[in-house]
Amino acid sequence: SSEGAIVWTKGVCRFCGTGCGLQVGVKDGRVVATKGDPDAPVNKGLNCIKGYFNAKILYGKDRLTQPLMRRTNGKFDKNGKFEAVTWDEALTEMANQFKRVYKEKGPTGVAILGSGQYTIPEAYAASKLVKAGWRSNNIDPNARLCMASAVVGFYQVFGIDEPANNYSDIEKCNTMVLWGNNMAEAHPVLWSRVADRKLTHKETKIINLTTYKNMSSNMADETIIFAPNGDLAILNYILREIVHRDAIDHDFVNKHCIFAAGGMDIGYGMRPTDKFAFPKEKDIQAKQNAIILSKEEAIAQSRPELAGKEVKQTQQGGKAGAHWSISFEDFKKGVEPYTLDFTAQIAKGDPDESLEDFKKKLKNLADIYIDKKNDILSFWCMGFNQHQRGVWVNELIYSVHLLLAKHARPGNGAFSLTGQPSACGSAREVGTFCHRLPSDLLVAQKPARVKSEKIWGVPEKTINPKVGRAYMEILRGMEDNSVNFVWTQVVNPFQAAPNSNHWLKAARHPENFVVVADAYPTFSCQYADLILPAAMIFEKWGLYGNAERRTQGWQQMANPPGEARTDLWMMMEFAKRLQVKDCWGEQPVPGLKVDGYTDGKLPSVLDEAEKMGIKPDMTLYDVLFARPDNLKVAWPDPDLVSKINSTTAPGNLNWFPEKALFNEYRKFTLGDGHDLADFTTYMNSETRGLIWPVVNGKETLYRFNQDYDPYVKEGGYAFYGKLFKAIPTGNLFGVTDPKPVPLPNKAKIFFRPYAAPVEQPDKEYDLWLCTGRILEHWHTGSMTMRVPELERAQANSFLYMNPKDAEKRGLKNGDVAVCESRRGQVKAIVQTNQRNFMPRGMTWLAFFDRKVQTNQVVIDATDPISEEPDFKKSAVKVYKA
Ligand code: SF4
Repeated sequence: SSEGAIVWTKGVCRFCGTGCGLQVGVKDGRVVATKGDPDAPVNKGLNCIKGYFNAKILYGKDRLTQPLMRRTNGKFDKNGKFEAVTWDEALTEMANQFKRVYKEKGPTGVAILGSGQYTIPEAYAASKLVKAGWRSNNIDPNARLCMASAVVGFYQVFGIDEPANNYSDIEKCNTMVLWGNNMAEAHPVLWSRVADRKLTHKETKIINLTTYKNMSSNMADETIIFAPNGDLAILNYILREIVHRDAIDHDFVNKHCIFAAGGMDIGYGMRPTDKFAFPKEKDIQAKQNAIILSKEEAIAQSRPELAGKEVKQTQQGGKAGAHWSISFEDFKKGVEPYTLDFTAQIAKGDPDESLEDFKKKLKNLADIYIDKKNDILSFWCMGFNQHQRGVWVNELIYSVHLLLAKHARPGNGAFSLTGQPSACGSAREVGTFCHRLPSDLLVAQKPARVKSEKIWGVPEKTINPKVGRAYMEILRGMEDNSVNFVWTQVVNPFQAAPNSNHWLKAARHPENFVVVADAYPTFSCQYADLILPAAMIFEKWGLYGNAERRTQGWQQMANPPGEARTDLWMMMEFAKRLQVKDCWGEQPVPGLKVDGYTDGKLPSVLDEAEKMGIKPDMTLYDVLFARPDNLKVAWPDPDLVSKINSTTAPGNLNWFPEKALFNEYRKFTLGDGHDLADFTTYMNSETRGLIWPVVNGKETLYRFNQDYDPYVKEGGYAFYGKLFKAIPTGNLFGVTDPKPVPLPNKAKIFFRPYAAPVEQPDKEYDLWLCTGRILEHWHTGSMTMRVPELERAQANSFLYMNPKDAEKRGLKNGDVAVCESRRGQVKAIVQTNQRNFMPRGMTWLAFFDRKVQTNQVVIDATDPISEEPDFKKSAVKVYKA
């Protein structure tokens, strides 16, 4: 290419989990344009409005270009003003602060808040640094806020994470059901494929289940507006209909499934200062004799020791909710109360719709699922996952599809979509969750730790067997002084986490040291002690994994501005400032109680390390990143290297960390059902991503199905059952025989009851508030609000309300209103008749707008099993500002 011409190279969109392929135009070392890649199977040349601005997000006027530290008189001062410092000054202070906290609190006092927007090599490095280097499991990605319930659902039902199907099912099905998934705004290009299918195949039906009418309703054949948590009852109603009409595929179910029920885990994340209006299940129960538990009953049954006490978060991240196998007869008993009448009473969401009309819609929905002629896809994303019973709704939708044998086959499946571009690749697959290791391994399982320690070349017992703190628990740790060093990477937690007023205060606690690495001065930067300037997508080599298990790679195309560096470079440079002896001696781990360990202690592994040639004075960089094997990995293209300063290892181009780390990570996946191809294959200009497992160079379009999945050897279908080989047996209410029954390659069909939301509107806080994303902006808007075209397209997060609710409060379109909850108040402009249409009693706010700190109002109640917060159900009052 001659100087001055645009060179086009393949890339991947920086935004949503759809994972659209791009062509990226580079001229004179600058990314000047992007366009949809016509050869990309995901998007076939299309992009949405955000996708078209992938180039402009790199060049906002206020990109961070040098480290900034709070200082007074040239020294770090928590109350000082931000001053530009050198990387050496920044990393040295950071290492000193880390060592201060680590000496006092051990591995549980330090943490990283990571991201589903990490590249895969970055995420893998973060997981390795924290788990092997720091011997801590306190790393958790923002995917905890969007996908954790789906993850646990997958684990519990199939024994392995991530969807069985792929996007091409959109062109193979005749029915699509959206469960709280406003695809038209959240997954626009996938929605274009849905639209294309509907417009070219007239028989295609779309049903939109939601708590308000949204953009996806415009094309849906039917919109079913349900009350918050009503989805739990509706799913049980469909299950009951399947049972009553004997629509079960008995052959499939007998061969491949087992029935299960589980504990009523409690863990709403209540805070002593917050008062809740408690559910009214008891009233309904009296009428219908349904299997619904009030909070008190649930506590009495599943955690008797907590009865009558203040309940705070009681589960650590990612613990499998206790469950056991039950008989089909018990399953039938469980779903029996969910008649059409009963379900409609609980689930009807629009006060202006008649009960009869709502019942007709529910019956039609059950008919659609049950009709053998229908090839059906169920899609969901945040509506299911950000849910106080998120794991339960995930499990129940699989129950529906499994009973009907409509899963993991062309045109049929329950399909969990992801929010972030690499929620699958970088949060889930590489193990940046606090309970995971790469390739679906769990820190709590000894063989998993041993395998990881071998691949990482570190002594046995280096990895801490105690599950770390999940995202919200890290924030709560900053508040209660148990976590004092927090490094945030590719995440904006002080705007994105619910009940955020608490965390803003906690960040400024004198004991805490908060490092924010980002490309722009985000809202979170205001609460940092140290700000590190980060490189963005095309300024580094990377890979992302999208929602259909497709891994896609791109090369570095431009240099980051000023002194900005990749997160990987920052981690490696930080690791150069820690020595093995800093972390690998005996360490306190409160609550650690595992066979072979002294209570509350991690043993020293320094002696074992010496036997392996690892000296106490070596740095963690030497041990984790630059071992001789890794150093042998050379750059693939010397010509490219001469044009681009590697942002990862400037001035030191004799090895290629992204490639070395990815190929090391690949070792975890081979033969394990997660097989990935090698780095070079993904980087080839011809490859447009591959759907894993990639076995003998071939991708796997459907898992669990013998016709497609090389891991299924006989019997048509097989679920991996790897993680939960056996479960105890019992009845609906508990274990009766603790002897585990084996589950060889069977999927679990769960019964889960209805449970009401923990906070509900009452006299004072009389409206629901639901929150979410909009088409034009990405998450907290830190990139898209810097693109003038996108900012102009949608500059404000509107408070959507029903016109009658607005009128009652003396509000009209365009007025500024206060939206107040028990946790705080924000101001936003009222909108009643555009884009979203709220039923009476419901309001809605997006969280992208820095001017409207939506999450200051939102409750931090979490699903007790997945620890994912519920951003969809807060009680608020609204009044004129
Ligand atoms: Fe595709 Fe999502 Fe990017 Fe839009 S935001 S171009 S739908 S990946």
